Amino acid sequence: MLQRIFLALLAIFFGVITNAQPAYFYPDGGNMNHAIPTPAAFLGYEIGTHHTRHDKLVEYFKELDRLSDRVSVKIIGETYEHRQQVAAIFTSAGNHSKLEEIRKAHLTGQVNGSTQSIPLVIHMGYNVHGNEPSSSEAAMLTAYYLTASESDESKKWLNEMVVLMDPVINPDGRDRHTHWANMHKASPVVADPIDREHTEIWPGGRFNHYWFDLNRDWFLGTFPETRNRIKFFHQWRPYVQTDHHEMGSNASFYFDPGEDASNNPIVPDYLYKTIYPTYAKYFAAAADKIGSMYFTKEAYDKLYPGYGSSYINFYGGAGFLFEQASSRGHLQETTTIPISFAFTIRNQFIASLTTLRASLVEKDNLLKLRKEFYRASKEQASKSPVKGYVFGDVNDETRTRAFLDMLLLHEIEVYENENTVTVDGKKFDSKKTYYVPCDQDNYIMVRSVFEKQITYQDSSFYDASAWSLVHAYNLPHAELKTAMGKGKRLTVLPARMIMPVEKSNYAYVMEATDYNIHKAIHHLQEGGAIVQSAFRPFSTTIKGALKNFGYGSVVLPVNLQRISSDSLFRLVSEVNKITGLSIYSLSSGFSSGGIDMGSAYVRTLKKPEVALIVGTGVSAPEAGEIWHLLDERLQMPITKLDLLNLNRADLSRYNTIIMVSGNYSLIDKNNSDKIKAWVQNGNTLITIKSGTEWAIRNGFTREKLLPVDSSKSVPSRKDYDMAVHIEGAKGMGGSLFRVDLDTTHPLGFGFTDRKVSVYRNGLTFLQPSINPYSTIAQYTSDPLIGGYIHPTTLKRVRNSASILVGNEGGGRVILFTDNPNFRGTWYGTNKLFLNALFYGGSISVPSVAAE
Ligand SMILES: [Zn+2]
Repeated sequence: MLQRIFLALLAIFFGVITNAQPAYFYPDGGNMNHAIPTPAAFLGYEIGTHHTRHDKLVEYFKELDRLSDRVSVKIIGETYEHRQQVAAIFTSAGNHSKLEEIRKAHLTGQVNGSTQSIPLVIHMGYNVHGNEPSSSEAAMLTAYYLTASESDESKKWLNEMVVLMDPVINPDGRDRHTHWANMHKASPVVADPIDREHTEIWPGGRFNHYWFDLNRDWFLGTFPETRNRIKFFHQWRPYVQTDHHEMGSNASFYFDPGEDASNNPIVPDYLYKTIYPTYAKYFAAAADKIGSMYFTKEAYDKLYPGYGSSYINFYGGAGFLFEQASSRGHLQETTTIPISFAFTIRNQFIASLTTLRASLVEKDNLLKLRKEFYRASKEQASKSPVKGYVFGDVNDETRTRAFLDMLLLHEIEVYENENTVTVDGKKFDSKKTYYVPCDQDNYIMVRSVFEKQITYQDSSFYDASAWSLVHAYNLPHAELKTAMGKGKRLTVLPARMIMPVEKSNYAYVMEATDYNIHKAIHHLQEGGAIVQSAFRPFSTTIKGALKNFGYGSVVLPVNLQRISSDSLFRLVSEVNKITGLSIYSLSSGFSSGGIDMGSAYVRTLKKPEVALIVGTGVSAPEAGEIWHLLDERLQMPITKLDLLNLNRADLSRYNTIIMVSGNYSLIDKNNSDKIKAWVQNGNTLITIKSGTEWAIRNGFTREKLLPVDSSKSVPSRKDYDMAVHIEGAKGMGGSLFRVDLDTTHPLGFGFTDRKVSVYRNGLTFLQPSINPYSTIAQYTSDPLIGGYIHPTTLKRVRNSASILVGNEGGGRVILFTDNPNFRGTWYGTNKLFLNALFYGGSISVPSVAAE
């Protein structure tokens, strides 16, 4: 451990940068090709003495590509902030000259694990969490080593392996942290943990541009960074994938195997029983050699398919997680000796080289794993009582397509449904719905996407315990007990058929069922149209056929607009193109059923002017989910209002304020009163999870939290060591639940089924309102769909309120118990949130007369 201090001192005294690596990283000196610059020679500082900017790192990789025929660098895309995504390929010059041939032979052979005679494909990924920076610095050291080393071993690696490298998974987040650490670096460096260098400000570098955790996104594929990466992954289907992280400064170093009980039960045991323990011996020996402390078999899970260290496990490879204690800055005090940046880098570097060393020796084992994976997948499919899934929402093409897009990203086989079928009372129309058979190579991923309940051994989860995406999309679907005929296979997302809009001199109408309805409303309002909504259904004759329009259908009366009928027509045509929605032209306001177009139930919608409270204490991912939703899916501007600016903010500019989960202790009474007065004045406050608790505790609404049952009899007594396990199990890692939604309420507009899947990963419990019209969504009496929940917690969830709306003065507070925008993927409940945003200003809760 003394090496940490030694290097910190060494770092300070590095005066001259030479083209030789310091012995700290390369104790054996190494036989290096001096034509290849070391990272230090290229960057002008020794690795570990400074945080390397992303652009400099990319330049270094390009320089290696320019100088060496062992390296090729591909740019596979760029981030929101226009940083390049690098995919570097290291292999011998000979292999490079026939790379495409190797790739194809690998893809063909890997299904049977018969790639013995061709190079082994390994992938190494670094720095998914931007403020865990050691690994990208280690990526440069590894890249240098693979390019410059003339040792027999490294030549053998390059001859017998194709090493793919993604040196920075999250470039935007990394640079956010890099600037922070560098701009606060002192000389001499300051190790005091409270120093500004070690305490990043909100939102920190962990997340990507939209404050999302990219280490959950592999399964969801919400972001371009991830999508580009997954496409590259499937081009190569490596056998091994590494994922390098950092943890608290007082920890040591973690490598797999993880917690036994939290292995994913649908992934073949060979991975957990053979591969991880075998590799662990190599990692342990490497760490022992340099005196590094480490741990295994604790704390980290491999359940969820969306981590960088687990995604590959669902395709027959081995994902490896490395967690290094963080110096978070250049040098930081710990309970023992200070930890230096260089020390953290060295562990990651050694883990990288050890992965390569072990993989080549264990090639037979990796091939066996792949073979075993496809065998197990076939066996699971044949034993399963379910032979396929049919799905699709004919009323919501946007959401159905988003789901299809995700399936295609994961290379799941999906077909058009050829015949209209009715399963479990649900009808699935031919051509408009889709079919996924279980009999396919990627069945294990199919299970992850469709199955609502996979049985796990443990309950103290690191993260979610259920993630069935078909529920996240709230998509009508059914399990098939017999396989059905396959229609046309989809290889790309089919082009959307758009029904062009015809000019009307009376009114245009649109159904509210499609996911894009809010995008349409926003663009219409932004274009100057007055947008109305039918608060009751109606049916009318269009081109000789009767058509039903449900609750919340959008109405655009031509002659009540401030813009001309020609301008309105141009606007609706444009909205028709960008949303794909069908927009119907009416020539009469007389309905054959339900309300007419001039009814008092056709109400004008207020254009939302929205501020989202952000800043210290606020959950960055929850806020980011809303920012991303409005930016990317609606192209709608939203003000990110820092809570420290509340004092000087003119709230009258907004009619809607959103408060997600957070600790709002920085909002003092003056500012809290300011928001309260603004609500009373006719505006809408939307709160989520602990934001909801804050609003209730601070008297924004008369609605109540569910009281805690305090009728405990005798206090119980348990062993100290059991606490982590027992108390952990009472938490709410994340499970799927069912609520009953009032689809006649504006928050339920556009939903065709009262039963809606929601995701719960928090412990906010709301009491149903005493006003019978205020509880918009309520958990059912048997609410669990999938995932783990402790019996005590389940009792509290049952029949509790999921969404409440309370009149407060002239305004209203809309309270969400759960996060409807979870990880950008909950297309189902997203719609509830967007309804709150777009219809919120038009809601008042009916008052109740005494009976
Ligand atoms: Zn991490």
